[in-house]
Amino acid sequence: SSQIQSSTKNVIDIEKEEAKEQEIYYKWTDELYFKLSKIFKLANFRNNQLKAINSTLSGKDVFVLMPTGGGKSLCYQLPAIIKNGKTHGTTIVVSPLVSLMQDQVDHLLALDIKATNLNSRLNAEQKNFVFQLLVNGELDLLYISPEMINASKKFQTVLQSLFRTHNLSRIIIDEAHCVSSWGHDFRPDYKQLNYFKENFCNIPIMALTATANTFVINDIIKNLKFNQNNMTLLRQSFNRDNLFYQILPKNSNTKIMVETIKKFILENFKNQTGIIYCHSKKSCEEVSEMLSSLGIKSAAYHAGMSANERIRVQKSWQNNIVQVICATVAFGMGIDKPDVRFVMHYTIPRSLESYYQETGRAGRDGRYSYCITFYSFKDVRKLQKMIQIDKSLKKENKTVHLNKLQQVMTFCENQFECRRNLILNYFDEKFDSNFCFQNCDNCVKKDLDLTETDASQIKEQDITETSLQIVDLVDSLGSDRVTVISCQEIFKGSKSAKIVQSGYTQLREHGLGKEWSKQDLERIFFHLITLKVLQEYSVMNKCGYGSSYVKLGPEARKLRNRKLTITMKFTITEKRSKTSKSDTTVEEDPQFIKILTNRRARRIEFPTRPSENRPKRV
Ligand code: ADP
Ligand code: MG
Ligand code: ZN
Repeated sequence: SSQIQSSTKNVIDIEKEEAKEQEIYYKWTDELYFKLSKIFKLANFRNNQLKAINSTLSGKDVFVLMPTGGGKSLCYQLPAIIKNGKTHGTTIVVSPLVSLMQDQVDHLLALDIKATNLNSRLNAEQKNFVFQLLVNGELDLLYISPEMINASKKFQTVLQSLFRTHNLSRIIIDEAHCVSSWGHDFRPDYKQLNYFKENFCNIPIMALTATANTFVINDIIKNLKFNQNNMTLLRQSFNRDNLFYQILPKNSNTKIMVETIKKFILENFKNQTGIIYCHSKKSCEEVSEMLSSLGIKSAAYHAGMSANERIRVQKSWQNNIVQVICATVAFGMGIDKPDVRFVMHYTIPRSLESYYQETGRAGRDGRYSYCITFYSFKDVRKLQKMIQIDKSLKKENKTVHLNKLQQVMTFCENQFECRRNLILNYFDEKFDSNFCFQNCDNCVKKDLDLTETDASQIKEQDITETSLQIVDLVDSLGSDRVTVISCQEIFKGSKSAKIVQSGYTQLREHGLGKEWSKQDLERIFFHLITLKVLQEYSVMNKCGYGSSYVKLGPEARKLRNRKLTITMKFTITEKRSKTSKSDTTVEEDPQFIKILTNRRARRIEFPTRPSENRPKRV
């Protein structure tokens, strides 16, 4: 609807607006800052919190889109205890998960704020007790699960009476993406939430979420029946400006890698906390053991461990007894350690969503933190094979996963464009890379003029003809068992003994791909497998080990019938060989150290406004 304009702003605009909001004095401003520090024990507001709070206290409907960990709860918990010269009544909070509710209630009780929750797990007696508290005005906040609205007539009656006595202060819909069937986690129970505006149209509503595009936001606003003439949409950039992003070549020798990581930790993060993500249980344990033997206190964390063991490891990491946790993706959800100074990907993540989420666990406290990913094409192939043989994935989903993996590969291989720009664009956000302020490897390189040549750029290229040649080659191999690697060698025109003996030099397609570099051919074959033009199949030998060979895939026919055009993004540089660093070790890479030292000097600090600067009554 017209309420929503594309509102991606750059950092400076946001800073300016925040400053403006801080200058406005409302009748609740004194009480607000007093309770922020005395009850919540916080010194400052974060981005958009103050605006959300002032808007809801002004009686507006508010939509808050803020990244995970951004501080959405404060946007409604603080207004819930603002009296503003009267009584503040009760705030109703709808939340989808009972466990999340309980966490929040415990947290509030610890701050001496009166809160409880109401869900279908309570028995009749317990529910009645909650209703009693509600009617007596003894609750600042009540957390409910969405089904309570329709499940309990009694609850509706209690709400009506709160409303009549002016004690229903506002309605909060947390995790509001659940309202929209277009969101990624739709819950049918959330559809009933239009109940609030239909029955109490002048009671302000606030919806909060970390994931919604413009389309989903509109849908939510419509479903909840927001008052569109009196509403505020707060959409915050997903840019994490305190994170430094870097991709480094990975050496296939684990010992060298772990040595490098150790050195790196000792030089930059002595006694500071970090996470190293690995792709398998075995890899977690290997890296963790090697790091420990080098004197860095670390522990493994993966789904193969018992629940108790995992809790023990997590606790000792959270209490800083263990410095580094070597984890699979099983580690993360619901873990809120604010002072994680570095997140490393020992193996690349499987999607850019995971990359954003996992790197996002660094620097929750707003302090400067590092995200370092070790990249090798070998790992891409390893993950590709893992996806291909994953029995838990349906066929269609495999294609989705393979595509996502390829996006990660393209992201990692990109040595020119601002990483922030690439990530934020992926999430539909416009971002001006000038506002990266050299906080990613590529921006630093550009600034230091470390790029090979100005002509370096990413170009989309049509590879349909080459793909057809490759399809012809695979076709002429017939039923021969040939690996992807051998196939690439034949295409490139190798005359190795093995290839000559097999007679492959006689094929028409032998050497047709000699103009391509080895890396580009690897990437093209990878792309063709993703597109199902080629397919890998495994054959078990007597010892039970599988080897994979290549054959034509279901999409090959489409390509041959000219119903498929294939394009791919390539990095175009004049000195191509210089960009292929996959075999140099990290230690030998002079950029590694240079980038980090350079970055320190260039970090631009935005001044934070202490709360003493808040507006004074005039
Ligand atoms: P979200 O719901 O957006 O994921 P939370 O509301 O759970 O985030 O807050 C995440 C963390 O940020 C919590 O530990 C919270 O105490 C902290 N936090 C929130 N607001 C502030 C603030 N203004 N200053 C410092 N820490 C804050
Ligand atoms: Mg939350
Ligand atoms: Zn950048």
